[in-house]
Amino acid sequence: MVVAEAVSKSFGSNEVLKSISLEVKRGEVMCLVGPSGSGKSTFLRCINHLEVVSAGRLSVDGELIGYTESRGKLYEMHPKAAALQRRNIGMVFQRFNLFPHMTALQNVMEAPIRVKGLNKAAVETNARALLARVGLANRADYYPAHLSGGQQQRVAIARALAMQPKLMLFDEPTSALDPELVGEVLDVMQNLAREGMTMIVVTHEMGFAKEVADSLVFMDGGVVVESGDPTEVLSNPQHARTQAFLSKVL
Ligand code: ADP
Ligand code: MG
Repeated sequence: MVVAEAVSKSFGSNEVLKSISLEVKRGEVMCLVGPSGSGKSTFLRCINHLEVVSAGRLSVDGELIGYTESRGKLYEMHPKAAALQRRNIGMVFQRFNLFPHMTALQNVMEAPIRVKGLNKAAVETNARALLARVGLANRADYYPAHLSGGQQQRVAIARALAMQPKLMLFDEPTSALDPELVGEVLDVMQNLAREGMTMIVVTHEMGFAKEVADSLVFMDGGVVVESGDPTEVLSNPQHARTQAFLSKVL
């Protein structure tokens, strides 16, 4: 579903991603962990067409997003093709980013109506089913300000699912939550994984990584320091940098 081959990304002279190679297969969950500033969000943003890679090859579901040819000429996907592909990628951020003037239901209905131009009644039926799926059937008519952080994040997940994505990206989805609300969001994500969704999850929740992820990638300073089976990496980290990081988050 996602193949990165020697992907690099620079902002000016700051090389934020340095030759990242990794693969996420259809139906797999990959957890991406690493210290702040290591390039995790930038990598997700490249996958989601919010940034263009500076070098290497990056493809999603067999479609090349960007690559550099041997002579250094940068290929960029046509903006229309990129926009089409973005619809198939759901993203959930640390801050829930719900539309504050819309109810939970309206938030979930917005994109399918605006972007896909689908029939309103059908969209509403689907949106209510999605809210039920994240445990919020009885909060459909609430505005974000009247929902807890955990509830808002679950609405954000339902909203992303409304576009029927083939890939879900989560960028520290529980980092802004009070500790007692983290579990309800992780439970929804775990169910999603069980249902076969392909997911890349940037998180510091190592319990989730161990239980749910198929692979764990540890990044530091823009490089993949080590990766592999989550339980193995977590219980027996090979690199000093991984050990140092894990000793702080575990
Ligand atoms: P992480 O998510 O692992 O904390 P980021 O991908 O957000 O790391 O950031 C990695 C580095 O890239 C940081 O040094 C950050 O300042 C830099 N960076 C990210 N986005 C931009 C941008 N749009 N312009 C310039 N520098 C950026
Ligand atoms: Mg980040």
